[in-house]
Amino acid sequence: MQPVLELKDVGLNYHSKSGETQAIKSISFSINDGEFVGLVGPSGCGKTTVLSLISGIIKPSCGEVLVNGKNIKSNKTKIGYMFQKDLLFPWRTIMENVNLGLELQKIKQSKKVVELLKKYGIYEFKDKYPHELSGGMRQRVALIRTLVLNPQILLLDEPFGALDYQTRQKVIDDISSIIKSEKMTSLLVTHDVTEAISMCDRVIILSQRPSCVKKEIKIKLDKSKSPTQRKTESKFFDYQTQIWKELA
Ligand code: ADP
Repeated sequence: MQPVLELKDVGLNYHSKSGETQAIKSISFSINDGEFVGLVGPSGCGKTTVLSLISGIIKPSCGEVLVNGKNIKSNKTKIGYMFQKDLLFPWRTIMENVNLGLELQKIKQSKKVVELLKKYGIYEFKDKYPHELSGGMRQRVALIRTLVLNPQILLLDEPFGALDYQTRQKVIDDISSIIKSEKMTSLLVTHDVTEAISMCDRVIILSQRPSCVKKEIKIKLDKSKSPTQRKTESKFFDYQTQIWKELA
């Protein structure tokens, strides 16, 4: 099976007035269709840089980023994003926010908008404004806005970082169930090891900068369970110890 995403010996040097910074030495990994992969590593090791390389915002200094076997330069790849901030426009209703991406691509209407809003319990809030919704609901809207564009890969950059502890676990379960149900191929960047283990099928650990892949760990927890339920499995703590050791 051809992976949806493949990074082959990707390296990245940042150039600035003060000189050159080698952010990534050499990173190789791949993600298969429908797989949910977590990327963890010490702060400043290049996690966000990896996402920028995949989205094509920056070009690798060496190596290749392939989507469905094609170089991203030659491929009109559709990448979906989810960030810490939901980035919803406060002056637009929920419906208008969800339609934003389609509008920008000059697509008039999509049946998928109503379908997803209904499926994930947002339809009744479609005429409300973002400030009228909870933080968790807004993250759900932000995800739906991305999903209506049919992305091939979903990149999640610390999407739960801004939520308070109480809300956080509920939102993680919620977002995770939507991603699973939509069978999205996803890459989650997080500094939170427990979040990565509870949500992902596999966790990739990066080394200190200039980074390379230190280890990949397949997470064999029950896929049918929510992240909260997975946290209670005894194997969960073994994975946690294993990853913390790598990061120490
Ligand atoms: P992480 O997301 O793992 O915290 P980043 O990808 O943000 O790491 O950054 C990796 C390294 O590259 C850091 O040392 C950071 O200071 C450096 N870096 C990031 N962006 C730039 C830039 N635009 N110019 C120069 N150096 C940068």
